[in-house]
Amino acid sequence: MQETELRLVEGVDYRTGSPVAVEIEDGRIRDIRNIKRSDDLPWLAPGFVDLQVNGFAGIDLNALPLSAEALFSLTRMLWAEGVTAYLPTVITNSDEAIEEALRVIAAAIREEPLLERIIPGIHLEGPFISPEDGPRGAHDPAYVKPPDWTLFQRWQNAAAGRIRLVTLSPEWPDAIDFIEKCVRTGVRVAIGHTAAGTEQIAAAVRAGASLSTHLGNGAHAMLPRHPNYIWDQLAEDQLLATMIGDGFHLPDSVLKVFLAMKKEKAMLVSDVVSLGGGEPGEYETHIGGKVVLTPEGKLHLKEQPQLLAGSVQTLRQSVSYLIRKQLCKLPQAWDMASVRPAAYLGLPALRGLAAGAPADLAVFKQTAGEIRIFRTIKRGCVLHETG
Ligand SMILES: [Zn+2]
Repeated sequence: MQETELRLVEGVDYRTGSPVAVEIEDGRIRDIRNIKRSDDLPWLAPGFVDLQVNGFAGIDLNALPLSAEALFSLTRMLWAEGVTAYLPTVITNSDEAIEEALRVIAAAIREEPLLERIIPGIHLEGPFISPEDGPRGAHDPAYVKPPDWTLFQRWQNAAAGRIRLVTLSPEWPDAIDFIEKCVRTGVRVAIGHTAAGTEQIAAAVRAGASLSTHLGNGAHAMLPRHPNYIWDQLAEDQLLATMIGDGFHLPDSVLKVFLAMKKEKAMLVSDVVSLGGGEPGEYETHIGGKVVLTPEGKLHLKEQPQLLAGSVQTLRQSVSYLIRKQLCKLPQAWDMASVRPAAYLGLPALRGLAAGAPADLAVFKQTAGEIRIFRTIKRGCVLHETG
């Protein structure tokens, strides 16, 4: 990363389509003014904010031992994808393994100020999820358990207080009390990998649950037509929702309905795993054993091809997908992957391309239905640049 701060970035505003010059001072956008149109101007937008990153480019955040160097190289690879903030995601595992992963991530952040700026917190997905096949997804059934506040506090200590989001299922009897305690201590709670009933979901929302994690995935292959936990979460106005927009996790018709229903509350997550950015083939992973990555970019369990094992697409690719399929336009798709998740976490980046917002920017072009990142900028400094 270049430590010198840029003073000026020019590009086409992703929201208005107008050519603008963004003036930067002390890591913030000082002013934005219109400039004359020229043909070779790239596009300009706030950097991506990813609430769910399990790994990338061969690095698995849930495979121990994990090192600070691994976290840093993963972060670096994400810069090339336009990501300026993300939540490393620690999933269902043994108590000790979860604790160690959290400890390593927290220690790495403490030692590297740059990581601290990129990683505003940690997402704990599991182990307090549904034990049922289907909702449990590819999480290891041996370690799924009911919410346990004492255990969570131990983990939060190991994480130096950095667990910012917990995904759980409110089907456990103690879930409501647990959610209230999380919310009281500033931890956001998402419903996910759940088989909860209508009243359990409503109670979770009353207790402060504020998000559905990858809505429509981590679910039974067959569900009662209604009621069911997808309708219940979809209809719940208090719940924002993340969805995996890679073209494999949700059919276009479902994405379309979710987008129409959730509107400004719809967000994208990558849910990307270590095989993201990798070659097609068969792989052995700690999550669910053998997996297959198809040439089309679908990742599934080898023995049960109907079960997906995470995504290999980044937010850049999901945004490209939504636009290509005309599920939404550029500004909406981009906001779903940047300012909305930033707002959900309470980050200053929620203001996007506006005076006073942090100069966290992605400079990109759109060619053949694909967004290509040229520059990623954090607080005015260049994190990544492609020739
Ligand atoms: Zn999941």
